[in-house]
Amino acid sequence: MTPMMKQYHEAKAACGDALLFFRMGDFYELFLDDAKTAAGILGLNLTSRDKDSDNPTAMAGFPHHQLDSYLQKLIRAGYRAAVCEQVEDPKTAKGLVKREITRVVSAGTLTDDGLLDPREANYVAAVCMHRDKKAEKNGQEPRVGIAWAELSSGRFEAGTFAKSRIEDELARIGPAEVLYREDDVTFSPDTTAPWSWTSRPAWTFAEDAAKETLCKQFSVNGLEGFGFESDDAPALRAAGGVLTYLQETQRRDLDHFRSISAHKRSGFLQIDAATRRSLELTRTIRSGSRDGSLLGVIDRTCTPMGSRLLGDWIAAPLIDRTAIEARLDAVAELASDVKLRGDIRETLKETFDLTRLLGRIATGRTGPRDLQQVARTLASLPTLKARLSDRTSQRLSFIESHLHLCPELRSQLENALADEVPLSAVDGNFIRSGFSEELDGLRELAKGGKQWIAAYQKRQMDETGITNLKVGYNRVFGYFLEVSNAQRDRIPDFFIRKQTLKNCERYITPELKEYEEKVLAADEQAASCEQLLFQELRSQTHRHLTVLGEVAVAIAELDVLASLAEIAVTRRWVRPVLTDDSVLKVEGGRHPVLDVTLPQGEFVPNDCIQSPEAGMILLITGPNMAGKSTYIRQIALITLLAQAGSFVPADSAEIGIADRIFARVGASDELSRGQSTFMVEMVETARILNTATSRSLVILDEIGRGTSTYDGLSLAWAITEHLHEQIGCRTFFATHYHELTQLEESLPRVANLNVAVKEWDDEVIFLHRIVRGGADKSYGIHVARLAGIPTSVNERAKDVLAQLEADHRDALDRPTIQSPGAKQGDANGKFQLTLFGFADHPLIEQVDKLDVNSMTPLDALQFLQNAKESL
Ligand code: ADP
Repeated sequence: MTPMMKQYHEAKAACGDALLFFRMGDFYELFLDDAKTAAGILGLNLTSRDKDSDNPTAMAGFPHHQLDSYLQKLIRAGYRAAVCEQVEDPKTAKGLVKREITRVVSAGTLTDDGLLDPREANYVAAVCMHRDKKAEKNGQEPRVGIAWAELSSGRFEAGTFAKSRIEDELARIGPAEVLYREDDVTFSPDTTAPWSWTSRPAWTFAEDAAKETLCKQFSVNGLEGFGFESDDAPALRAAGGVLTYLQETQRRDLDHFRSISAHKRSGFLQIDAATRRSLELTRTIRSGSRDGSLLGVIDRTCTPMGSRLLGDWIAAPLIDRTAIEARLDAVAELASDVKLRGDIRETLKETFDLTRLLGRIATGRTGPRDLQQVARTLASLPTLKARLSDRTSQRLSFIESHLHLCPELRSQLENALADEVPLSAVDGNFIRSGFSEELDGLRELAKGGKQWIAAYQKRQMDETGITNLKVGYNRVFGYFLEVSNAQRDRIPDFFIRKQTLKNCERYITPELKEYEEKVLAADEQAASCEQLLFQELRSQTHRHLTVLGEVAVAIAELDVLASLAEIAVTRRWVRPVLTDDSVLKVEGGRHPVLDVTLPQGEFVPNDCIQSPEAGMILLITGPNMAGKSTYIRQIALITLLAQAGSFVPADSAEIGIADRIFARVGASDELSRGQSTFMVEMVETARILNTATSRSLVILDEIGRGTSTYDGLSLAWAITEHLHEQIGCRTFFATHYHELTQLEESLPRVANLNVAVKEWDDEVIFLHRIVRGGADKSYGIHVARLAGIPTSVNERAKDVLAQLEADHRDALDRPTIQSPGAKQGDANGKFQLTLFGFADHPLIEQVDKLDVNSMTPLDALQFLQNAKESL
């Protein structure tokens, strides 16, 4: 094995299951199995290193500047990559160049701007099961720690949850990668989840090790100061797991991880994973993209920081009235002043992604352009601060007090950095002249030398009469004089020939070399002087990490509040009135997404009144496509927006703060997970019945579709009764079971709604208007025609329907279902279910009258024959 391959194998052994990108000169190479895997995914040419040997080494590579895009592809495909760099200059290295793995990149540890969507956080999370035998013996549910961190910003949170919450919490966080303990038999990762799973050694989650790692990182003796309680061991273990992973994969300072916050579930509206998905809060069901989701449609932020924070607010609305009102106050203040809002938003557009800039500065991966962006962001603060002084709302004053101007840092950066600066410090020439006397002196020297060389060229031209004599420069010969073959006979003796090319020759002279040395020495010194100055600027900025971190948080919040104000004004949203009662009173409510995406004026607003008096369970019947789902989703979204601190799409809204929102809506997206629609429906419904409280908001869209009509109807019936009798929460139930509308008569807090339909000339027009009362027809055949079902099939369906309806009307002897909470005097069979529509068929009567014992087999056959003919 060559020494280099030995070096390769050592590095490979240290990087676990990650593919190794091995730097060789201007290329990154992959070898052996890595090469084969990468060639497939990245579309690289698979070659081999030693083609003639018996056992050639497979190899694939690409030019170094393409690293980012290949990393991204690989990570999207679910892999991890270790980058092994040359850590010494090949020119000065003795023997084999030293190489080291400088970082391991995985989905959750991406930081490069080019690889991340600036509007979205990129979290690495960890789940850690915590066995507590004593507690479990007492019947307590096992607990789990979940921690999540963002490498690019230093954000770090952890919480302790009941085991059953894992899916919901991960859905809220939306991580890119989730770590779990490799030896944990009680936990199996859901491989259909949209994030990648990484198994990790058990010790990284051990309680003592985790606490020690965290304390060391934050330079503290205990973690109580961050809000953790004595029983928060699961959270801390998960946090330790995350931090160890980051340290191991990054191999550099994580100075921007300065604290961790204890996540308190109690402060937030609980939304389970299925609800989150079906309400399309931050992603659409169909494409999984942000565009078209609630977040995508309402986002009017001007900065990536604001955009990410708005995502957090929508993913985790509040339940504390004071906190919500504080946000609403600020939105109201910004909404009422066009100029104020306009100025703030314009200024925000001039800021840069400070959070991620700070992440890069903390991890030492920063360049002049990052520092310039910090300076430009600082430069926009005085305007923002001035616009926010004397505001009445508490949040705006809070923000104002956190916009630290950092005047010295700003002027230092502004004075130091040129107007145009390169991305990377090695490119040089980014320090403004006039900033450092030393640098200016060196630059003068270099410049003087260059001027001398230019003059020298002219002098030589004049003296030798070589009219096309040129001065050139290359890395091998330094400065040289170039003469074309045509004028070669004019060359004087003191020109020393260095190189012969096709059409010309290159020469040096002692004088030229002397100045060359001066120029190059000055250039080199200027470059290293510039690097020193850069280091100084970087550490100066680094010393401001904490205050700048506060500025970043303040900018993000201001941006979100201004964004909410902007959409409120442009879409005519109103401030909701919040109450602690279980009520909902919305006038002219609109669906926040459809209202924006449908052509102007097409969306039909609807009211909603829900209270113990007006009905807590609203049953909505009506034809398919009439707008039932839209209506009930709109209610859920309006409530959720209000609790996130936003105005809502309505003419007026009084909203009782909900503790949980449940949406059992369509299950099509679950089918790919291999469960039957009906099973998924029942699991979700079971969850609602088991966990909803009287303060919850439940929306149910069609229950029991996946089973036989009677099964489904019976379940829907019983579920409604349970919600009414046992839970008493606000419920919207869209259903095609018309029979359910009878419940209004027996259950006091059930009310019927339906969607108005106009019939006109055999046409059916959906008015999308919700009105009181139950629907009496379903218009399915009409919808089928709209969908393109052939006319002949449609006509036949109409006949069958007419027949079925006639039979249905004839069925007289129906059994009666009595609801447990029935109102007095209702037990007289007034509302009945036709569960056995065949009971009154004439044949039944005839069969009843038969005396089987006296019949011969032939009589019996004859009877059967007649019966069959009569059908
Ligand atoms: P259902 O649940 O009754 O089958 P949907 O709620 O899915 O019906 O609505 C069907 C379509 O009708 C939607 O895609 C939407 O375009 C339109 N729609 C629904 N509600 C409204 C409304 N209030 N105003 C205008 N169009 C609506």
